[in-house]
Amino acid sequence: MCTMSNFCSSVVFGFSTYRNTSEVLKTTKQFLKLSRLLRRGKMDLSSTVYDAIVVGAGIEGSSIAYNLAKRGQRTLLIEQFPLPHSRGSSHGKSRITRYAYEKSFYVRMMVDAFPMWAQLEKEAKTRLFVNCGLLNFHYNQSEGLERMTSALRECQVPHQVLTSTEVQSRFPQIKNGEDYCALWDPQGGALKADKCLKAFQDVFQQHGGVVHDEEPVTHISPGKVITVATTKSHYRAHNVVIAAGPWSEKLCTSLKLQVFLKPLRSLVLYWKVNEEFINLYDPDSFPCFIDSRTSDDVHMYGFPSLEYPGMVKICLNRDFVIDPDDRDKLENDGVMTEEVKKKVALTFKHLASMPSIREYCICTDTPDKHPYIDKHPAYPNIVLAVGFSGHGFKLAPAVGKAVTELVLKEPLSYNMEPFKLNRFTTKANL
Ligand SMILES: Cc1cc2nc3c(=O)[nH]c(=O)nc-3n(C[C@H](O)[C@H](O)[C@H](O)COP(=O)(O)OP(=O)(O)OC[C@H]3O[C@@H](n4cnc5c(N)ncnc54)[C@H](O)[C@@H]3O)c2cc1C
Repeated sequence: MCTMSNFCSSVVFGFSTYRNTSEVLKTTKQFLKLSRLLRRGKMDLSSTVYDAIVVGAGIEGSSIAYNLAKRGQRTLLIEQFPLPHSRGSSHGKSRITRYAYEKSFYVRMMVDAFPMWAQLEKEAKTRLFVNCGLLNFHYNQSEGLERMTSALRECQVPHQVLTSTEVQSRFPQIKNGEDYCALWDPQGGALKADKCLKAFQDVFQQHGGVVHDEEPVTHISPGKVITVATTKSHYRAHNVVIAAGPWSEKLCTSLKLQVFLKPLRSLVLYWKVNEEFINLYDPDSFPCFIDSRTSDDVHMYGFPSLEYPGMVKICLNRDFVIDPDDRDKLENDGVMTEEVKKKVALTFKHLASMPSIREYCICTDTPDKHPYIDKHPAYPNIVLAVGFSGHGFKLAPAVGKAVTELVLKEPLSYNMEPFKLNRFTTKANL
């Protein structure tokens, strides 16, 4: 280990080998600068080189760090804000989980992710999943429904297509709307988001992982050994994973990598249930749902009453582009609320006409809404796991596994083609 005293003596011994005064002066200046950094605790010479540093302790970074540590990698997880925080994408109490995807590569990842969430529940000794099922509304004969059922069939995942009459007899909370049907994903439900995040971070530390929060990463210097600078110190590692969510573009640009990421502010709304009918919205009686009956990629989604007593969370994924450091500056909640109010009134019985609670979250979209999970084209020991859009939470265990395989240069468990950096015109400007 390099301590202050043996570090100094090695510099002083070195003096005898210098040939002229200017060299001695230069070395003295360097020595004084280094000793100042050491005194201020700005340089981490005591630490050895980490196997991996993960930037960003959202759900993806935390799962990646957990997976790396479980594979015996000495891992440092660095987070800019004090943990836990509510400024990124992974906070809050709930996220939908499901097998029901239109792309079979996601279904395959979920086939892995479900048991991995169950494993995490065991390790953290906390309940993380509520199996209330997932109902996905579609117009009859929609292409989306066709793609979804064929992806589920391909992966042999049980599911059912219900007619509107069957939906209403099973779920009397739902109004008799237009001509629709719904895909029933009986194994879907809700993940307890805050608890999932904490579980990954706790078990990561039980496996020897180190977490530094309140420490923004300011610079990454590539190399065989990478140096990561933060506002407090410098760290070195053989591999770095960038999982910085809405802030990722800044770090990518500093590594001369052009990525297409759009941070969007989402409004999260909670609606009171008429007291007499509260039981109808319990997780035993009401599922998670996604309403895909739109033509323009906007859908409504919601949960049974799981969080605030007597309320359900129902939101619209119509989002507005923001600067993640200025999330709350925008004042267009009214437009959003009006739109979701109309949809809620059309679809559900026994709910208040106005939401009672508003919260915010940020989604980071890529142009095709698939994340980037790939190595930096010029620095293969820097891996990106960013752009998880509005659906990345449930995938986190599989993402952690996939990124660990990339870092360890192992055969890949999943089809990673859809997540390649170069699928648009992304390039490294080197
Ligand atoms: C309203 C809403 C509803 C959603 N619903 C669902 C759902 O039902 N199901 C689902 O599967 N997914 C859902 N998602 C999507 C899911 O939540 C996100 O895809 C996922 O949380 C993304 O996680 P992340 O780790 O990539 O990003 P984040 O959670 O934002 O994590 C990134 C972290 O990096 C840190 N960071 C950034 N820059 C630095 C730096 N320079 N130094 C150190 N740290 C840094 C940030 O502070 C942050 O903590 C939803 C998202 C939103 C917003």
